[in-house]
Amino acid sequence: MSLSHQSTKLQEVRAEILSLLKVLYDKVDLERKFGAKFLQLTPTEKIHTSSEKDVTSPQLIQKSLFDAHKEKEKVELSKSDKIERLKELEEQVNQCTKCGLCKNRTNVVFGTGAPDADLMFVGEAPGYYEDVQGEPFVGRAGQLLTKIIESIGLKRSDVYIANILKCRPPENRNPTANEIILCKPHLIEQIDIIRPKVICALGTFAAQTLLDTKETIGKLRGKFHDFQDTKLLATYHPAYLLRNPNDKKKVWEDIKKGA
Ligand code: SF4
Repeated sequence: MSLSHQSTKLQEVRAEILSLLKVLYDKVDLERKFGAKFLQLTPTEKIHTSSEKDVTSPQLIQKSLFDAHKEKEKVELSKSDKIERLKELEEQVNQCTKCGLCKNRTNVVFGTGAPDADLMFVGEAPGYYEDVQGEPFVGRAGQLLTKIIESIGLKRSDVYIANILKCRPPENRNPTANEIILCKPHLIEQIDIIRPKVICALGTFAAQTLLDTKETIGKLRGKFHDFQDTKLLATYHPAYLLRNPNDKKKVWEDIKKGA
């Protein structure tokens, strides 16, 4: 075999190894997000390439990822698992600088409540008081949310409360599409840990973001939707109710369905 032929062959092998390492890296990264603590390769995942090397095919890796996800769905998380994973996630989110909102925040507003709550409320973004205290729904709208929760026989500590955005937009402006895209994975991971039976989306942004729709809250409210196999109920945001108290009755009717 000529030297140039050998060199070409070596480059091909090198490219193949790099490509496989990239696939494996992506697999480990994704499995870690699914909660896997180690990489498991069973004999059925091994195949032989044309060059007869013992490697893992992208197709089988995809299958493995799917299986890992299904496996994760089957694995129940204990309350202490949930507490630990939420703590780890909160530590990560506290360091987040993915969007410009990190520059002016006083606190990241991660979320609060029961780590194993059956009912989870998702609002839009922290306001002034939430930013100062680092807790969601503590201003006037928050006090109204507390009353709504108590009206169905629960306490704030029985449910989990979070927002789409974890940092306050300046002057309480609406979240931008980019901020929502960048921050949404934090919420998805929270939901994935808490695994509530019902998610209650409060207001237009929460409902539209979680349901991936442009439909108005007026049309979305009052009925159950599906969010990744979890029931999702949309209703008006408490801040809207402070401006439109006549609609309080509609919210109480909505919330009772999720209780
Ligand atoms: S709003 Fe979300 S994405 Fe932006 S810095 Fe805060 S935690 Fe990160």
